[in-house]
Amino acid sequence: ESELIQTNLEDVLKAKGLEDEVQVVTTGCFGFCEKGPIVKILPDNTFYIEVKPEDAEEIIEEHIVKGRQVMRLLYTDPDKKETVSDAKNMGFYKKQIRIALRNCGFINPENIDEYIAREGYGALGTCFEMTPQAVIDVIKESGLRGRGGGGFPTGLKWEFASKNDADQKYVVCNADEGDPGAFMDRSILEGDPHSVLEAMAICGYTMGADLGVIYIRAEYPLAIERLKIAIAQAREYGLLGKDILGSGFNFDVEMRYGAGAFVCGEETALIHSMEGLRGEPTVKPPFPAESGYNGKPTNVNNVETFANVPVIINKGAKWFSAIGTDKSKGTKVFALAGKINNVGLIEVPMGTTLREVIYEIGGGIKDGKKFKAVQTGGPSGGCLTEKHLDTPIDFDNLIAAGSMMGSGGMIVMDEDDCMVSMAKFYLDFTVEESCGKCTPCRVGNKRLYEMLDKITEGKGTKEDLDLLRNLSGVIKDTSLCGLGQTSPNPVLSTLDNFHDEYIAHVENHK
Ligand code: SF4
Repeated sequence: ESELIQTNLEDVLKAKGLEDEVQVVTTGCFGFCEKGPIVKILPDNTFYIEVKPEDAEEIIEEHIVKGRQVMRLLYTDPDKKETVSDAKNMGFYKKQIRIALRNCGFINPENIDEYIAREGYGALGTCFEMTPQAVIDVIKESGLRGRGGGGFPTGLKWEFASKNDADQKYVVCNADEGDPGAFMDRSILEGDPHSVLEAMAICGYTMGADLGVIYIRAEYPLAIERLKIAIAQAREYGLLGKDILGSGFNFDVEMRYGAGAFVCGEETALIHSMEGLRGEPTVKPPFPAESGYNGKPTNVNNVETFANVPVIINKGAKWFSAIGTDKSKGTKVFALAGKINNVGLIEVPMGTTLREVIYEIGGGIKDGKKFKAVQTGGPSGGCLTEKHLDTPIDFDNLIAAGSMMGSGGMIVMDEDDCMVSMAKFYLDFTVEESCGKCTPCRVGNKRLYEMLDKITEGKGTKEDLDLLRNLSGVIKDTSLCGLGQTSPNPVLSTLDNFHDEYIAHVENHK
């Protein structure tokens, strides 16, 4: 539909002889999925929502020719009943700070000039005037932590990789986004692929690596296509390849395609898959910084982590660390989904509360229903309830509340949702995605699923609830990798927060 909107806009402009004065540009996602497709008119920033291909004539005739806004396509604030034409005055955007998503919705991701016009590749040039250690120090001081879910300090990770000497080192970008409901990385790659390429080159410069590899799931064809275009353009501009910007530093980027296995998001499994082996995790140490891809020092970062790097170099560590909470700096991108009015992709400063995310940015619960829970961290996370609504979101607070940040999926549930079924849904996913290498995860999760199934069928007993808890503990303690170590979290958090629902199910059993 959006392609048809673009074609129609171009056709109408041509018919009116305006094709040289007005440009129609495709950008990445604006984030406000609920109200898409979106057409934004510059320079006056008018934001038209839910545009249909047949609206093209009216938009050009009214807005461009006559200078009048098309009122029926403007956003109306549901509370104040006011019409808003500029996105920055909409509840959905007001509390957002877009750092990782800074260029999504602004530039044509297939045109490197537009990236360069917004300070693109300037950070790479700045880094060449610094020592590799000085660049690492900036990233360390910024407080940036891994956005893939682990929350490990990025600068420290880079430092480990830089200190290991080898004839060959690698930078790997983990774009194997696999949580149900999560599309943060996809959006960044589709909307701003150069930001990731630039950051990978910066990382390569700090650790002495001349090759970057993006491991991306094959189910992301648009992201793959845009990355391919971006890599070709960066090579053409001398921003990838030999002697970048006359610095003497060589760096190029290749891609590897994942077949959609969730476990390949774990860095050792990802590296095995890149090597053509089965995507199975192995015990750490050795960490990839010491022995990773092809047995060489490798730094693996997630897409969103990389997307933050050029801005930190451009604006400084202090600027970045002033945003967020004590131990979680900057912003976090979340994919807001489920029973919420404003489904979409958001980026908020760390420390924003769940209440602000759900009610102010998300516009509240669909159909005026009551909020029941929000699942953060996908199948590895837990559900947070009414009592957590005022918890500032950061890495540590979410863990303390019994969930986790994960990569950024946020699924909202209302009063009609059954929390036992929700836990069963995630377990079903985990059983499917377990690589099967270790018994607690391979067999234990299956048994957990069977118990949940029995309970939701009304055939469970109170003893089953104790068994659920005990088996969950064993799986967490004895599984080899993060997938198994966190897979019982949805069960445990629903047992803790919605025990009455489990009781109601087992009491149905006569
Ligand atoms: Fe594989 Fe699960 Fe064991 Fe991880 S915990 S290695 S996914 S079986």
